[in-house]
Amino acid sequence: MSTHDVINPATEETVRSIDLVGVEETDEAVARAVEVGPQWRGLAPADRGRLLRRFSAVVDDHLEELALLEVENAGHTIGNARWEAGNVRDVLAYYSAAPERLFGKQIPVAGGLDVTFKEPLGVVSVIVPWNFPMPIAGWGFAPALAAGNTVLLKPAELTPLTAMRLGELALEAGIPEGVFTVLPGKGSVVGERFVTHPDVRKVCFTGSTAVGQGIMRKAADQLKRVTLELGGKSANIVFDDSDLDAAAAAAPMSFLDNAGQDCCARTRILVQRNVFDAFMERFEAAMRDVRVGDPGDEATQMGPLVSAGQRETVRGFVENSDETVDVAFRGSAPEGDGYWYPPTVVLPTSTKDRVWQDEIFGPVVGVMPFDDEADAIAKANDTAYGLSGSIWTRDVGRAIRVSRAVEAGNLSVNSHSSVRYSTPFGGFKASGIGRELGPDALDAFTEVKNVFISTDN
Ligand code: NAP
Ligand code: MG
Repeated sequence: MSTHDVINPATEETVRSIDLVGVEETDEAVARAVEVGPQWRGLAPADRGRLLRRFSAVVDDHLEELALLEVENAGHTIGNARWEAGNVRDVLAYYSAAPERLFGKQIPVAGGLDVTFKEPLGVVSVIVPWNFPMPIAGWGFAPALAAGNTVLLKPAELTPLTAMRLGELALEAGIPEGVFTVLPGKGSVVGERFVTHPDVRKVCFTGSTAVGQGIMRKAADQLKRVTLELGGKSANIVFDDSDLDAAAAAAPMSFLDNAGQDCCARTRILVQRNVFDAFMERFEAAMRDVRVGDPGDEATQMGPLVSAGQRETVRGFVENSDETVDVAFRGSAPEGDGYWYPPTVVLPTSTKDRVWQDEIFGPVVGVMPFDDEADAIAKANDTAYGLSGSIWTRDVGRAIRVSRAVEAGNLSVNSHSSVRYSTPFGGFKASGIGRELGPDALDAFTEVKNVFISTDN
């Protein structure tokens, strides 16, 4: 059996060695998930809801333990990690109401009664990346379980600890064995097997666009359902009529949260030309105040990157790049052990620059001026991605016009919020296919069945 050493990104110390699951164990887990499917699907809706509420309560009882595990495994700040564990609790509680509200329709037809049902798909797989191990897992497994599916979850190889613990907590809450199984293993082994196994009916994937495209290509062989949450290169558009102090104060954490390892990070700041210098002055001051350091310290705002490899990738965009990258200013980061990288602001010279086009997934932002509303929209949309974005203006009409014109799934005005469990989340263009969270997420884990009952016989 192969193993993976989990490394603490802030200290480079080995936390624990994990046995990695192979194809054979994946197939066994699929078989168990198939076997217990009818039992789970057949539970009275109120009972399935009650079990999910109990799961939510058990997560709440272990909130601090889960949060500390994430600080150790992923280098997340303790404040973020608590929010992340709380998000799993909340998403479970939100979807615990779904089994009793999985409404179909009654449609007027001649000669009988026509009704629709939302049937579970069967076995659903969830593939999670290392950047938000807990929330992204919950966005998949909570609605999938609520809709009556059995679930297999593969955490990222780098960050399996919280997912494994959630698997144990599910059992503790009374979720029957085999209904929700966590399989720590490699993407190329366990993840691939989810895609090729005929009894796995859906792959709910979050990660890189390249891997997502490969999954969709292979899923076509079995017409397997996919939800893909992929990368982003989101714009933060600052108009000259905005509250410039507020826009500048909020800009640092809009791309530094989770050390920039966030698909919603606002990594392209577009500033109207006539306020560019005024914005940059305020932005630089705000950047100086960001506290980068020990993720276990309550006051820390940004911790290390997840791995040495990710730090090399980020460096490759700035220091070791083929193109000349003009660094405007930098924040500070600890020296010594740990995968630290300082917050970095760059000034791309063209929208074609790699730092402006590619998802860096680190604490690096580009800033560029624009002339007017049309130019702002054109520049914001000049990207393969379309996940999120922000618009800073005091003009309500402009806020609505620009929100409608930016090709992205999640926009915020005078704010950088992207994710709320009660509202839909997902991307346009290369940022993915499908939506998670909110009232409609259950559609992604069910098939509509139409039944006509004759009243004439
Ligand atoms: P990735 O390779 O796409 O990994 C995401 C998940 O997919 C992991 O669980 C991974 O397992 C699994 N996986 C990898 N290859 C697979 C395959 N062939 N079939 C099925 N599953 C597979 O992403 P990454 O390498 O961790 O990160 C690379 C870049 O992707 C980042 O720098 C960032 O730009 C982007 N990214 C975006 C998001 C997002 O939230 N949208 C999240 C993470 C990364 P292993 O861990 O075992 O490889
Ligand atoms: Mg990868």
